Amino acid sequence: MKKTIYLAICALFACCFWACLSSSSNDSAPVENLPKHVILVGFDGWSAYSVNNGADMPTVRRLMAEGSTDLKSRSVLPSSSAVNWASMFMGAGPELHGYTEWGSRVPELPSRTIGNYEIFPNIFGLYRQQAPQAEIGLVYEWIGIKFLVDTLAMDYVQQAAMNVENPDGCTPFAVNYIKEKKPNFLAVIYDQPDGTGHGQGWESPEYFAKINHLDQCLAQIIQATEEAGILDETVFIVTSDHGGIDKGHGGKTMKEMERPLIFWGKGIKQGHTIEESTMIYDIASTIAYLLGVEQPQVWTGRPVISVFE
Ligand SMILES: [Zn+2]
Repeated sequence: MKKTIYLAICALFACCFWACLSSSSNDSAPVENLPKHVILVGFDGWSAYSVNNGADMPTVRRLMAEGSTDLKSRSVLPSSSAVNWASMFMGAGPELHGYTEWGSRVPELPSRTIGNYEIFPNIFGLYRQQAPQAEIGLVYEWIGIKFLVDTLAMDYVQQAAMNVENPDGCTPFAVNYIKEKKPNFLAVIYDQPDGTGHGQGWESPEYFAKINHLDQCLAQIIQATEEAGILDETVFIVTSDHGGIDKGHGGKTMKEMERPLIFWGKGIKQGHTIEESTMIYDIASTIAYLLGVEQPQVWTGRPVISVFE
């Protein structure tokens, strides 16, 4: 009798265990295909118009051919820097995060919600909360970036300058960091071609030369992930904060409002044109999806699901 009860209990446990296993594998169907690394590369002031009108950018062209692309992804208004970088990292527009201007360092409107790092919830801090052991980094050039992110959530924060001594700006820092630490999430945010656009114009030969230079920087970053042995487990997101027209931006033309948004790497559809509308704040949501981070209610972004195989 005792043996029968024992066997019955064993059978019950086996059933429960099996049920748990199958339900978890159903719930997390896409998880097995998620990358271990996400690298976001941003070029300040890089317009979708330039890609459609003669930019060489061989590395970008390769990523477009082997990945998924939207050349109609929109910035939030105004088509200025801080308000858009904030939206990219914070999964929502200026009405909610409150950073509304070109150079906002604190929100002009009170943020609708304050997260664990005393700032509107953004992807860096949310990922840290979820993954205490993750390696998280940021390399940037424009000083305004550091006011829009959870620097305390990061293992590595480096400001770089693009100048005669360091012609590739962020690049060597990002390359060394990738090789040394194999980051799970890294954002590399260049301050060009914005400066060239303001100086010589958004359709000037100098602007097109600068985006080709940045394309070579991107190639170096990809090369570093290959040398670090993580390329097969990485998704790259390459984008910008806004475009430009004549020698400026901030206004309401499509040359200013439309940005390239390119996904490339593990599990990303090849040669795919994203047909649905995407906004700059959808980038945070897509990164959250890729890193397995639950999106907070206050975010309005949506992951760009169609790019996944
Ligand atoms: Zn900008």
